[in-house]
Amino acid sequence: MKTKQLIERAHGLSEPYRIANGKKFRLKDVDPADTQDFKSEDKPRAKEALQNGIEALAELQDMLYAQDCWSLLLIFQAMDAAGKDGTIKHVMSGVNPQGCHVSSFKAPTSEDLDHDYLWRCVKQLPERGRIGIFNRSYYEETLVVRVHPEFLAGQKLPSKLVTKDLWDERFQDIRAFERYLTRNGTIVRKFFLHVSKEEQQKRFLERLERPDKNWKFSANDAKERGFWDDYMEAYEETIRETATEDSPWYVVPADNKWFTRVVVAAAVIDAMASLNLDYPKVSDAKREQLAEARTALLAGQ
Ligand code: ATP
Ligand code: MG
Repeated sequence: MKTKQLIERAHGLSEPYRIANGKKFRLKDVDPADTQDFKSEDKPRAKEALQNGIEALAELQDMLYAQDCWSLLLIFQAMDAAGKDGTIKHVMSGVNPQGCHVSSFKAPTSEDLDHDYLWRCVKQLPERGRIGIFNRSYYEETLVVRVHPEFLAGQKLPSKLVTKDLWDERFQDIRAFERYLTRNGTIVRKFFLHVSKEEQQKRFLERLERPDKNWKFSANDAKERGFWDDYMEAYEETIRETATEDSPWYVVPADNKWFTRVVVAAAVIDAMASLNLDYPKVSDAKREQLAEARTALLAGQ
């Protein structure tokens, strides 16, 4: 498929899941089992689309790296077993590892807790020309911390600052932070892999039943399942409050892993295509230098 066509297709595939105006967003409007016009017997077609997407992504990344001016920050949030790790692994499988960095954010360390909550994430922001991937992020601050207020108590915030406005302030600060990044050349795209509670149960059972998947099971993940509705409420509000035209959320159906991957790859291509990337133009002086070097090499020097 020609690049231009592929970019158009990527836009069409990802657009239905793009939330750029949070105010209208309702989580119930996205069906975790949705696969658009792909039926399950079309899985090979989806795999081919993903493969084409991965190749296009590699090309775009090469230009991003050569230009060394824009950077891309991809944030992944999801309930456990929604497929964050597999999606990152598959979608980024074609890109040059030198131009890409994945950071995973687990429960904060005591050093992290001695700082503001953005601190540990700021340290991992991508350099110009690079793609940064956050496997979880500062969004945990309005998700797990909201669902479990005891984590907030552990953050050593001055009590005067912990008021009923705290969550609104966090949303405000996150919006401002992402606007700041955008204005400095870091393009931000956020992905919520939306898995259903039933599919999560299936995947947990598989982790328990298959020895090669046992390592993925954590008793804590199962415990968090008990807070499902609280999490969904926290996700909905977070997306409503932080989806903007410049740094949109993609709420991606995640009951079918093959479909999730196609949509995420398409959204990443769409983001990079919007930058009109190209290889740096060679100046006349440089072109002369290249010609001289060529002549010298051909002369056997
Ligand atoms: P895996 O796919 O390997 O399970 P994971 O991202 O789920 O990856 P875990 O170590 O299982 O990694 O879980 C990390 C945990 O850390 C999650 O439960 C997450 O909610 C929690 N966490 C992340 N950030 C924070 C935070 N700021 N405060 C409290 N808990 C956090
Ligand atoms: Mg986990």
